[in-house]
Parts: sequence; C-alpha cells; structure tokens
Amino acid sequence: MAWGFETDPEFQAELDWVDAFVRDEVQPVDLLIGNARDLRDPLRAELIPPLQQKVRERGLWACHLGPELGGPGYGQLKLALMHEILGRSPAAPVVFGCQSPDSGNAEVLARFGTDDLKKRYLEPLVDGRIVSAFSMTEPQGGSDPTGFTTRAALDGDEWVINGEKWFSSHARFASFLIVLAVTDPDAAPHRRQSMFVVPADTPGITNVRNVAVAGQADADGAHAYLRYDDVRIPADHLLGERGQGFAVAQTRLGGGRIHHAMRTVGLVREAFDMMCERALSRVTKGEQLARKQLVQAMIADSWIEIEQFRLLVLRTAWRIDQYNDYSRVRADIAAVKATMPKVLHDVAARAVQIHGSLGISNEMPFGAWVLESFQMGLADGATEVHKTNLARTLLAGYAPADGLFPSGHLPARRAAARERFAARIERAVHAG
Ligand SMILES: Cc1cc2nc3c(=O)[nH]c(=O)nc-3n(C[C@H](O)[C@H](O)[C@H](O)COP(=O)(O)OP(=O)(O)OC[C@H]3O[C@@H](n4cnc5c(N)ncnc54)[C@H](O)[C@@H]3O)c2cc1C
Repeated sequence: MAWGFETDPEFQAELDWVDAFVRDEVQPVDLLIGNARDLRDPLRAELIPPLQQKVRERGLWACHLGPELGGPGYGQLKLALMHEILGRSPAAPVVFGCQSPDSGNAEVLARFGTDDLKKRYLEPLVDGRIVSAFSMTEPQGGSDPTGFTTRAALDGDEWVINGEKWFSSHARFASFLIVLAVTDPDAAPHRRQSMFVVPADTPGITNVRNVAVAGQADADGAHAYLRYDDVRIPADHLLGERGQGFAVAQTRLGGGRIHHAMRTVGLVREAFDMMCERALSRVTKGEQLARKQLVQAMIADSWIEIEQFRLLVLRTAWRIDQYNDYSRVRADIAAVKATMPKVLHDVAARAVQIHGSLGISNEMPFGAWVLESFQMGLADGATEVHKTNLARTLLAGYAPADGLFPSGHLPARRAAARERFAARIERAVHAG
C-alpha cells in the first residue's frame, strides 16, 4: 500500500529496472566515492562510467531532455516517479545524466545558446564528458539579485567581467561557468543583468577558496568563492538577450527546483523505511518500539508528511506537462521548494530519535540529512523568499472586502439569505 502510484505498464517496467539497478549497483558505489561529479577522481573514473553505459544502453540517459537533445522526452510526471528512485543515491543522478547544476545549465544552453556554443559546451555536457557550474550568488547578497554588482562591459567583440561570486557549486572542477552580470546598470532593476557562458580556464578567474558546508571536511568544500578580474569572453558567449539574465535564470531554476524535490521524496522515504525497520527491531521494556504510541505517532506523521509533499510534487509535475511553461507554475514550484526542507528535516530528525544514539552517530546517515535540509532551505532560494512569492501569487486572486465587514461575515450573509427567500419564509411562518 505504502507508495502506490500507478503508471502505464511499459514505463513501470523501466521504473522496476531503475529501482533494482539503483539498489544493487549504484547505492554500493555511494559508499566508496566522495563526489560522483568530480571527473578527476580516479576511483570515480573506474566505477561510474560503466554504470552510465548501462543506463545509456537501457535508453534512460538524460531523461529530462526532450528527443531533440537525445532524451526520451518523458515529461515531468513520469520523471517524478523516476527521480523518486534516483533520490535514494547521491551518485544516481550522475549515473543517469541528470545531475544539477548541469541539467539546468544544459536547459539554458539548449534554449539560449548559439549553434557554436551548443557544440562546444552543451554536447559534451549532455554526454557527461564535462561538468559545469552556476555562478550567480555574490558575497554581499544572495536572495536579492538586484543587489548583485559583478559587471560585464562590452569592449569591441569581447565582454569583460569583473566582480565576485560566492557558493558556485562544483566550480573547482567545472569546464565552464554560467555567470550572471550587470550589463545595463541604468535599466529597470530586472533588466540590468545578462547571462554568460564563461570557460573556466579563462585568464582572470581566481578560486579564492572552496567553501565546505557544516558537517563536511574543509577539504571537501564544494562551493567556490570566485573572483573575476578582467575576464574576457567572446561577445557571442551571451545567453539570451542583453538585459534578460533574470528571465534566463528562471528557465534554469524552475526545472532544477522541481527535479530536486522529486529526488527528495526518495531520500525522505529512505529515512522512513529505516525508521520503520528500527521500530520493529528494537525492544525496550519488553516490547517493540513499534508498539509505543508515541513512536507510532512519529511514523504516522512522517508518512502523512511525505505523501502530502509527494502529491504536491506530482501535481506540480503534471501542471508543468500541461502548460509546458515554467512561468505558469512558478507558485506551485515555490510551494514545493518551501515544503522540501521541512519534510526532510522533520522525517530525518524523527529517524535520529527512533534510532537513539546510533541515529545521531556518523554510522547512520540521518544527521547528515538533517544538515542537508538546511542547505535545501537556502540553495535555489531561501524558503522565506519562496513563501513570500507563493503568498503574493495567491493573494493576487483575491480582492478587499466591500464595506466594514469581511464578505464571510455571518449577519450580513444571513440578512441577504433572508431577503432572497423572504416569500418562502413568510409562507413557512403562516403555515406554522
Ligand atoms: C548547498 C548550496 C548550494 C548552492 N549552490 C549555488 C550555486 O551553485 N550557484 C549560486 O549562484 N548560488 C548557490 N547557492 C547560494 C544560494 O542561491 C543562496 O544561498 C540563496 O540565494 C540565499 O542567499 P544568501 O545565502 O546570500 O542568503 P541571504 O540573501 O543573506 O538571506 C539570509 C536569510 O534572510 C532571510 N531572507 C532573505 N530574503 C528574505 C525575504 N525576501 N523575506 C524574508 N526573509 C528573507 C532568509 O531567512 C534567508 O535565509 C547555494 C547555496 C547552498 C546552501
């Protein structure tokens, strides 16, 4: 009963294959390699490509892409069911060619890149031969992109970029960066910036340091603090129109956010499965933990929260398929994005609790997942910003009440109903 959601039998066969493949072949690799995205790691080079080959042979490589880019074009609803499985394993998105930030960067290049840019950057990226990074956040401001100060100025047939970017994930091993920079400082705030492809080996780019997140060793720092000093790139490395950087960024973040949420469903389910197994295995005061009502409440709350989240994700995926336009589902994606860290946090925290001291130890993954929930509440936009955007969209569908009292005020509604049915009320009174 637990997670049933039927799809067509042919696709179900693919999901069954993915499920067994991830469990039997990919999850063991997670335990051996640090970062499946780092192409320079010799152990990764041994273990990941053979798995990627199996995925290619099965026809499941880069499933987020439409047929024009070599993907099967499944649509978001089917992708959601597949990503739920991939979410159990950090390496699985890489094995299936749909890892972030590359998947979002590929979407941007596919939509806004020239033929030459597609050949140079998109093809090897989609093929898994190179890695990319997204360089938007700055040290002095993340949530409010109108405060970004990195500049790009046109000099002949080159753009010259100057400024600093913060938390550019995976930049330390990326071949190129997608960079947002101010090109038109005097334009309206949302038309000041433009998006660029910047080859990572361009002179003038300095990696000040790689920043690690809480719970990680400094040496594993994945988020680069980058300085751009007179970084010169060809004029045709502009993505989309000049001044349209925010619109280009939205293309990328929409897909990235929903795919991340789909995978998070799989991750929280892992925590849930382990929680249930533990509740049935551990005996205290002569009975299983599973028989304690407070433990049962934790299990019931977790299942309800996971399924609520999952249905929100699936419905949003369905709406993306209906409209094929992220701007029409921005509020749905904001709701998903705001829910995701809370579900992971709450379920992983209960898993810690039910596992006791073992649960908080480094011998179980729950502590890392609780910390990951804090990353989720920031990456791709802080929860508060998404909630604000959602509320703004929802409120746009309402109008202020006429007069002193709200439209739901019972005395006024009752008076209107009395007036409407006055004749019948009169008849009923006389009949009585
Ligand atoms: C794991 C991880 C990976 C990331 N990867 C990348 C990447 O690859 N590329 C990239 O460019 N960036 C990346 N980021 C940065 C991310 O986009 C920013 O963290 C995010 O936009 C928030 O910006 P900030 O961290 O500067 O927080 P701030 O903007 O300083 O906000 C701090 C807090 O202020 C509050 N706040 C802010 N605005 C509002 C508001 N409008 N209403 C109410 N409260 C508000 C929120 O509580 C927020 O958490 C990553 C971040 C993380 C954690």
